[in-house]
Amino acid sequence: MLQAKTALITGSTSGIGQAIATRFAQAGANVVVNGFGDAKEIEDFRQSLENEYGIKALYSGADLTKLDQIEAMISEANEAFGGVDILVNNAGVQHVAPIEEFPVEKWDLIIGLNLTSSFHTTRLTLPYMKEKGWGRIINTASAHALVASPFKSAYVAAKHGIAGLTKVIALEGATKGVRCNAICPGYVYTPLVENQIADTAKARGISEQEVKENVLLAAQPTKEFVTSEQVAEMAYFLCSPAADQINGTMMQMDGGWVAQ
Ligand code: NAD
Repeated sequence: MLQAKTALITGSTSGIGQAIATRFAQAGANVVVNGFGDAKEIEDFRQSLENEYGIKALYSGADLTKLDQIEAMISEANEAFGGVDILVNNAGVQHVAPIEEFPVEKWDLIIGLNLTSSFHTTRLTLPYMKEKGWGRIINTASAHALVASPFKSAYVAAKHGIAGLTKVIALEGATKGVRCNAICPGYVYTPLVENQIADTAKARGISEQEVKENVLLAAQPTKEFVTSEQVAEMAYFLCSPAADQINGTMMQMDGGWVAQ
């Protein structure tokens, strides 16, 4: 379905982004993979997408907290593929600490990466989408775009910001064939969640097992983690003709978390 389209997925060397890049490649899109990690593992992933799905995959190691690197990544994508049809703003990090102890540099990093970089990637890709009369922007937000949890001030602020940005993009692109939606997963078991278990245990003074059972999945009525593949399938659906009138929404995938 996505043949002759180009999808740029930020933060796609791991977790949810990697699953979305794989799903889009499977659907025939050329993909731009971005993120950090082991160089060989990333190259193996890039090559496996090309070999398995017969598409072209480009890797950009751009650090999305740096404007010049974001600009270079979009230029590389434009040069390789002519433009970006589908933008998935997915790269994100987390830090867990009470507000009065929250490191200022972590606040700046999380707002810069989880929110501001999406403004830049969007403003740099939107003109091509509008000109072409078709474009899809998907923001990997979170249940934390809709509700808060303690000790996650920067993350919750950034994700609520992404919810607002999603709605504005949806309105500005509405008559130009551009759609913008956010996916709001509950807990997905990826390295991002794995890494915050220890910090949460420390912040709350409980064991890591208790964090999993009583903190993370406590909020999720199904008591199950969302999978990266389920999020990827939603992203794919949002690019399908059936989703043409879905615009400016927060797609909740949280086992009922925010229904409470
Ligand atoms: P992850 O840690 O597995 O992947 C994060 C990706 O972002 C990696 O590819 C990493 O290299 C990349 N990245 C980190 N810093 C970067 C930078 N400065 N520049 C460019 N890339 C950078 O995390 P994940 O769980 O797959 O999270 C992906 C998105 O999903 C994030 O926005 C996260 O907030 C959101 N999310 C995750 C969950 C969850 O439970 N895992 C739930 C809701 C929303």
